[in-house]
Amino acid sequence: MNHRKKIYSGLISLAVLASIFAGIITHSKNESLKVIFLDVGQGDAILIEQGEKQILIDGGPSGKKILEELGKYVPFWDRKIDIVIATHPDSDHISGLVDVLKNYEVGEIIKTDAQSASDVDNAFRDLISDKKVEKQTAEKGLAVKLSEDVRLDIIAPKADENVSEENDTNSGSIVAKLSYGKNKFLFTGDFPIEKDHELIADNPDFGAQVLKVSHHGSKNATSGEFLKAVSPETAIISVGNGNRYGHPAEEALSRLKIAGSDILRTDERGDVVFECRSIAQKCFLGQ
Ligand SMILES: [Zn+2]
Repeated sequence: MNHRKKIYSGLISLAVLASIFAGIITHSKNESLKVIFLDVGQGDAILIEQGEKQILIDGGPSGKKILEELGKYVPFWDRKIDIVIATHPDSDHISGLVDVLKNYEVGEIIKTDAQSASDVDNAFRDLISDKKVEKQTAEKGLAVKLSEDVRLDIIAPKADENVSEENDTNSGSIVAKLSYGKNKFLFTGDFPIEKDHELIADNPDFGAQVLKVSHHGSKNATSGEFLKAVSPETAIISVGNGNRYGHPAEEALSRLKIAGSDILRTDERGDVVFECRSIAQKCFLGQ
């Protein structure tokens, strides 16, 4: 390499470094919020991100898939997920979290005491204790803050219902509500229809513009009564194309239509991204 070429390649390297640093600075200064319903196939995974801080609710059925998805939205230099929430110990919600724990530093994990006898739940619990991840038990009344403006309230389970039956893990699902100014998002895991009435009775202030539809649009979730209380403008169904359960069910889709909600499905749209620019503005659907 001659002298001039050396100078050119030096300048190019400097320019590349400068743009990476500029990217880091811009990213960490940007306090807008993104809520992303990740397309992980038949399962759930939702990423809430503000600057370099993240909450991940569930990790979907595949480690490979969730790591690919996180790679799209979490900056490559940021190897920490601040808060991970495992709504319940079914494999379509926690399998991916095993690989998240292996590949990212996790600030804290919020889960119930419900256990499943599956290999994946055993591996998940072992990894949490091996890595000494800080753990909080999810129960109604617990609130976590990602920043001054971003708050997540745990609505269910109640303290005395923290442990679900092993063969009915859905009934112990964590239900959580995200608040960013007047913007509210409700996440329901696989919460079952039989408990909707009690959930509404316990939570008079239940409205949310965006609802993560429970249990991938199963007919055994999301009653008309529940939808009346939440009154969601947009309902997100996290579901795999051609899944063997027949999700989403016609019954659930028609209840959502009667409620007047726009239905967005991850099997049809891929990732569903909401962008929230400030607490004073309404969140909107991104590309
Ligand atoms: Zn599920």
